[in-house]
Amino acid sequence: MTKDIRRCVSCRKVALRSQFWRVVRCHPTREVTIDLGDKFIQGRSVYLCPNADCLQLAQKKNRLGKSLKAAVGDVIYQQLASYLVVGAIHELPLPRNR
Ligand SMILES: [Zn+2]
Repeated sequence: MTKDIRRCVSCRKVALRSQFWRVVRCHPTREVTIDLGDKFIQGRSVYLCPNADCLQLAQKKNRLGKSLKAAVGDVIYQQLASYLVVGAIHELPLPRNR
């Protein structure tokens, strides 16, 4: 797979990494957090389309938790949902290209 192409954990769509939310299981703390692009977070990553459908599917099927092999609390999903409420996709805190 090309370096900057990633796949959504819910709908399996592939796109540039910058088009997705990135949720990370940090190394070595195993704490699950959302990559807001303000600093580099090392760890196991999972990518998700920034839309309500993929977010709901991910939560319902525990896709983030399964991919990360870690417990993903409701707070993570609530935080992502709050970004949806913010509005247009360009306002979402997507990870920047590095
Ligand atoms: Zn998706």
